[in-house]
Amino acid sequence: MDWLVVNFFPVHRYISSPVHRFTCLPDTQTNLTKYLNMRKKIVAGNWKMNKSFAEAEELITEIADALDEIELTNTEVVLCPPALYIEMATDVAFESNFKVGAQNIYPEDAGAFTGEISPLMLKELNVGYCIIGHSERRKYFNETNEFLARKVDALLKHDMCPIFCCGEVLPEREANQHFSVVTSQVVEGLFHLPVEAFRNVVIAYEPVWAIGTGVTATKEQAQEMHAFIRGLIAGKYDEQTASDTTILYGGSCNDKNAAELFAQPDVDGGLIGGASLKSEEFLKIITSL
Ligand code: PEP
Repeated sequence: MDWLVVNFFPVHRYISSPVHRFTCLPDTQTNLTKYLNMRKKIVAGNWKMNKSFAEAEELITEIADALDEIELTNTEVVLCPPALYIEMATDVAFESNFKVGAQNIYPEDAGAFTGEISPLMLKELNVGYCIIGHSERRKYFNETNEFLARKVDALLKHDMCPIFCCGEVLPEREANQHFSVVTSQVVEGLFHLPVEAFRNVVIAYEPVWAIGTGVTATKEQAQEMHAFIRGLIAGKYDEQTASDTTILYGGSCNDKNAAELFAQPDVDGGLIGGASLKSEEFLKIITSL
């Protein structure tokens, strides 16, 4: 019955931190988490390369104002604007109920890497998350799993959470290779981590054929892959770590289909592209969780 005792721990201190896992908790706290099945839910907006500064400010303010009126339980909202708007976003976030994420980093603290942004620079701006391994970066910038593993390490070194994207392209799904593709991405990008570090990672399953296409994975397809990824984590680490890992779905998720996707037992929220660019739609997605 030790879980009763831990009701006196200030759980919110741990849950509200960007690096949100429970690695620093006493065993009793871990038991409470297990008992209540409290893995964190997240809705993250990936704005990609969109919006002027004024439009970004307007959108962030609308979302922040609306979030002031919404009670979120064990749910984090993360906005990932273009890098130039991060400082403005973190200023607003300071007094609001959302976290700020970046869309990319370079995996070095500093140096001769023209045009790049280091994790230290983001950390200084209070950034809590960073999208890693998005299919657009894999495709247009030739980012390999090996390189992504370095980015993951660089973020964790500075206490920021990677939102690690994985997912197959259409020909891979049609050839029934989607499980092996996702396995390689997860194994090569993440499974070098010791368990304590891994517990700070968020995974986003984003079938590439669903990103920006208006074609969403069915709830069955999403659930099947999320359960599969959770199984991989249990095999590499342990059941508790698998159960505690937040796994998001991404790919044409919108205010019409979010509720049924999020209702799947292994879908813990979404990484939202296009639908995160309109406050009303994004807020409906958040409240579908
Ligand atoms: C994304 O780019 O991560 C994404 C999920 O995009 P969309 O929601 O527009 O498909």
